Order: sequence, then C-alpha cells, then structure tokens
Amino acid sequence: MRPCQGRQADMKQRERVRNRLLNGLSESDYQRIASDMEAVELALGEVVAHRASPLEWAFFPLTAVLCTMTVLSDGDTMEGCAVGNEGMEGLCLLTDELSEPDRITVLVKGEVLRIRAATFRRQAKERLSMSQLLTRYLLFLARRGAHNAACIQHHAIEERMCRWLLETADRNGQDRFHFTQESLSQMLGVRRQSVNTAARHLQQAGLITYHRSKLTIVDRCGLEEASCECYRSNRVLYEQTITLPNDTKRGDIGDEARQERVPATFPHSFMRKIPRRVPKRGGSMPPV
Ligand SMILES: [Zn+2]
Repeated sequence: MRPCQGRQADMKQRERVRNRLLNGLSESDYQRIASDMEAVELALGEVVAHRASPLEWAFFPLTAVLCTMTVLSDGDTMEGCAVGNEGMEGLCLLTDELSEPDRITVLVKGEVLRIRAATFRRQAKERLSMSQLLTRYLLFLARRGAHNAACIQHHAIEERMCRWLLETADRNGQDRFHFTQESLSQMLGVRRQSVNTAARHLQQAGLITYHRSKLTIVDRCGLEEASCECYRSNRVLYEQTITLPNDTKRGDIGDEARQERVPATFPHSFMRKIPRRVPKRGGSMPPV
C-alpha cells in the first residue's frame, strides 16, 4: 500500500465522481469527509485487514476491487463480498470488533480513498446523507447476498463467471485485468479445474482471452448475453436502493441553515434505464 503523491490536493474535485457512495453525499458532507481522506494504491493480493488485526481504516475504492473473504475452519477461503467503486469496505466499524471480517484482500489492484476508523465513525453519526447512504448500502448488501445465494444455486458457472467479469470491469473501469486461478475459484466458490473449464468455454466462444492471469474482455455484448440475469438485476437493485431523496442529499443534521446546492454534474441519473447492450464492441457499460 503506497500513498498516491500529489493526489490529495485535487481529490475533492476528481474523486467526487469516482466512488458512487461518495457521489451520493450532500455537498457539505462530502467536503467535510474528503478533507479527512487520503488516496492510496493497493497491490493485487494485498491483505488490508484480517481478524487478528483490527480494521484501522474505512476504504472507498476508486479503481481497486476489495473482497471480504470468509475463512472456513479447514483454512479454505471463499468470497464473502466484492466491493468496488459502487461501495465501501468498513461498515463493521460502525458496530464493534465482533463483526470484523475474517480477511479483506485486494482482488484487482488500483486506487482507494481511505479514512481513519474513528473519523469514519464520527462522520457517519454526524452527517445525515452519510448515515442514510450507509444504511441504504447495508440494505443493498443484504439483498445482494440473498440474490447471490440464489445465483450460486441456480445458475451455471459460465453464466456466473460472465456476471462476475462484467461487474469487475464496471468497478475497475477497464476490460483488462489480472486474476489468479485461485482468486477466481474463491470468488466463484468452485474448484480451479471448474474455473479452467469455464474460462476455456468463454475463450472458445470468443468472449474473453485468458493467459497467465491476464484476462481481457474482447466481446462485451456477447458476455452480457451469456451472463445470468443477476448482472442486470443487481444493477437495478443498486440504483433503486441507493438513491437518496433530494432533501437528504442537500441537508446535514443540525446544519439545515447551511444547505448547499448540489453541482449540476451530480449525481448521475440514478433511475435511468440501463441499456441491455452497449453501443459498440468492447465498450463499457455506465458504472454501477
Ligand atoms: Zn446468477
């Protein structure tokens, strides 16, 4: 983990549009929390928290993808929850140490904004838009968890791999990233051999290339058609759950007199219709 030099000065302007939760804050809440954050670059496979070491930071990914891993009694690990620029890691800081995750690792290298645990707790309590967004995000995670359980039960591994690749591309903002077979098998909850077979099928169909941990999406439209319905339904669920009423986005607890107007560029049209297909081959969907 290394600080991103020269990034703090312009953070308030640029990162405003790169993390969807931060995007959803009122302008005044955002300005206050941004001044307490710093940008860091995380490496592939880096462990940012584990049960033996209390979480010291809350993380808001910009291009990195983090994953809360569940560690079983035999030492095997499995994805609990992957988070990119649509969310944050560190909700457990709002409760107590009993809720700390087994392990949080970096699935896709990239940048995050981080904020000290104590500061995050204080901001979450004092800032209305922060408090309400985190509550809504928690609700989304609960619903997504239930949905994921159904996905694992009912959808084929190739379909689920397509979904996961699309979600990762949306979070990372690129159609090319690095994965190990081990991390893919952990994320999908299947054996490495099954990952190999599924990846080979997707390659043969001309949807991806996968060589020495480098995975490239070469046919985005085809990947969407091959994905299970969960890719699209989770995007809709996110939009419906996270959207804050306008009066909440503009107001703070005990600070109504200083309500500020939200910039014209914020937020994206949350309720826009999500296109089924992208306009051209290899293009990217709008971020989740
Ligand atoms: Zn599914």
